[in-house]
Amino acid sequence: MLVSGKEILLHADQNKYAVGAFNINNMEIIQAIVGAADELRSPVILQASQGAIKYAGIEYITALGKLVADKYDIPVALHLDHGTDFEEIMKCIRYGFSSVMIDASKYPLEENIERTKEIVKIAHSVGVSVEAELGKIGGTEDQIVVSEAEATFTDPKEAKIFVEETGIDSLAIAVGTAHGVYKGEPKLDFDRIEEINKIIDIPLVLHGSSGVPNDSLRKAVERGICKINIDTDIRATFATAVGDFIRANPEEIDPRKILTPARDAMKEIVKKKIEVFGSVNQAWK
Ligand SMILES: [Zn+2]
Repeated sequence: MLVSGKEILLHADQNKYAVGAFNINNMEIIQAIVGAADELRSPVILQASQGAIKYAGIEYITALGKLVADKYDIPVALHLDHGTDFEEIMKCIRYGFSSVMIDASKYPLEENIERTKEIVKIAHSVGVSVEAELGKIGGTEDQIVVSEAEATFTDPKEAKIFVEETGIDSLAIAVGTAHGVYKGEPKLDFDRIEEINKIIDIPLVLHGSSGVPNDSLRKAVERGICKINIDTDIRATFATAVGDFIRANPEEIDPRKILTPARDAMKEIVKKKIEVFGSVNQAWK
């Protein structure tokens, strides 16, 4: 069942768990994610980046997203990850996404507020939820590159102003995670999560969560994180499974046989994440 991002995250907030937001790029990844969520009776967010939309085509992404939302008896949100382009965001709303992220975090606070407000006004008028970002999350996400020196943690006081001024439904915060593969073990600022959670009352989002130890993820959920984004762990699982299969079966040319172990492996990694996030059996419809 297709639901808005707001509905899914408010349920998570009230019931003290986090929803996994997994990045989708093709049919096998979508099947792996929704198969895992359905088996564990968990709500799930399917999110597509602008790069994924460019790769697969918005018609394919929305058709597949809506198809699985109808097919499975669990709450599913279809979300745009890191929307930086006004027209791209509008296109997603028009094609039926139930949630969008406007990422204007590279701009100064005032401009971030203005750009985010504009999206909120339009999205809310047609029942689509909005996530925005404050502070700068390090690493590389598609075309967005933030160096370690540029990365800045979210300021709790600014977060309060930002949420009040923009009217967004959820806030992505920078608290020590980064996009892509980590070099060392990421150190999360749990006190900052707690402080932000205390002064703002909308659900908080953790980006760059692949490679973060399970204990840290659990602790982040306890302190108030309601949405956890996972992309890199799925990519790595896919690449390893395909590579292993081809090395073991160099003569095989059937894409179905090559991709089946990857799909199975991605489903297993998604199931593990869902268990850590605490959303097992939280599907309310
Ligand atoms: Zn992100």
